[in-house]
Amino acid sequence: MPYVITDACLDVMDRTCVAQCPVDCIQEGERMLYIDPDGCIDCGACEPVCPQEAIHLAAALPAELQHFEAVNAQFHTATDYGPAGPGRAAGVDHPVVAALPRR
Ligand code: SF4
Repeated sequence: MPYVITDACLDVMDRTCVAQCPVDCIQEGERMLYIDPDGCIDCGACEPVCPQEAIHLAAALPAELQHFEAVNAQFHTATDYGPAGPGRAAGVDHPVVAALPRR
């Protein structure tokens, strides 16, 4: 059961979680960070260090944030958006995130 980053990260991107993750499975979009559920080993190290309290165990997500489990996963499997890589110099946010108003 992976951990999930939610929209409390949006337009903040503190990145303390990235340094804590032992398996480097937290990747950047343009406006928020995303956890790869296939890489996450459920260690929980990222959750308490987030100053925004944006990180939740998937099973503990409040109902209004449950769609972020798919948002985090799809960010790592989509071909037309996702982390920086071949054909994409900078991370491109999931469409659900990209459509959220600026904070
Ligand atoms: Fe990385 Fe552990 Fe957080 Fe998963 S729970 S994203 S492995 S720090």
